[in-house]
Amino acid sequence: MLRIAIQKSGRLSDDSIKLFKECGIQFDSSSSGKLKSISANFPAEFLFLRDDDIPGYVEDGVADLGIVGENVYTETGRQVTVVHKLGFSKCRLSLAIPRGTQWNGVEDLQGRGIATSYPRILGNYLKENGVEADIHEISGSVEIAPSIGLADAVCDIVSSGSTLLSNGLKEVEVIYRSEAILIAAPNLSEEKALLLDKIMFRIKAVQAAQNHKYILLNCPAEAVDKIMQYIPGMKAPTVLPLVTEGWVSLHSVINENDFWTNIEKIREAGAEGILVIPIEKMIR
Ligand code: ATP
Ligand code: MG
Repeated sequence: MLRIAIQKSGRLSDDSIKLFKECGIQFDSSSSGKLKSISANFPAEFLFLRDDDIPGYVEDGVADLGIVGENVYTETGRQVTVVHKLGFSKCRLSLAIPRGTQWNGVEDLQGRGIATSYPRILGNYLKENGVEADIHEISGSVEIAPSIGLADAVCDIVSSGSTLLSNGLKEVEVIYRSEAILIAAPNLSEEKALLLDKIMFRIKAVQAAQNHKYILLNCPAEAVDKIMQYIPGMKAPTVLPLVTEGWVSLHSVINENDFWTNIEKIREAGAEGILVIPIEKMIR
């Protein structure tokens, strides 16, 4: 049985739970203070933990797999395998300074105090840039440090920037970009590695589906070639005759990113009655 560590409650929790559910792995994820839950239909047990503890548990083999932010993985420096990027909980780690202060570059921080919960990532960044500064490690509410005279700058997680703004700070430099990742213990048994392969197969199917839409449309038979240029489907599109003479129904898969640009060209080429449908799973 695989033991999978996910965040108990926080910014990774909902999407981590959703991912496994979309992979068809059922487990009780109700936030009833439970710390463990065994899946009813997959040989896996879920552990609900604080995110900072997850890399350590995975390194020690207490858990076989875990989901954490890349920032936490890098900061803890644990020896675990990064299996896959998951595309959610995207954020950045940035330097910020009081709004009225001038900024010419990271060299401005030479000899200054910087408050952060990420001393390792910040330390590496400063070193790469040849800057020596005082790093004040604090575990929360980093953004108030300049206003209480604890530091000249902060290095903290930013997603929208509103927290910085409300604390009179401005973001001046992004030093690290993060998203959720799946990590694994370094020496999984053969049996567990096979279970991980199964999970990865499902995760890839779910992710592929998220980036694609199923498209159905009607068009004159002679327009098919032209329309096909805008629908680079999985292989060839399905073309079925309609009752109306000379018309066909065309079915294919379209990349979400190309969707809006191409849909106009498809219409111009003579398509009508276009339906675009989400795909739940996609296996290539
Ligand atoms: P825990 O109680 O488990 O220690 P936490 O308070 O340390 O939780 P969260 O704020 O829930 O952590 O953030 C978890 C992870 O989500 C972060 O390490 C980061 O990778 C990502 N994250 C943080 N802030 C944001 C944000 N504003 N938007 C998106 N992702 C974020
Ligand atoms: Mg934490």
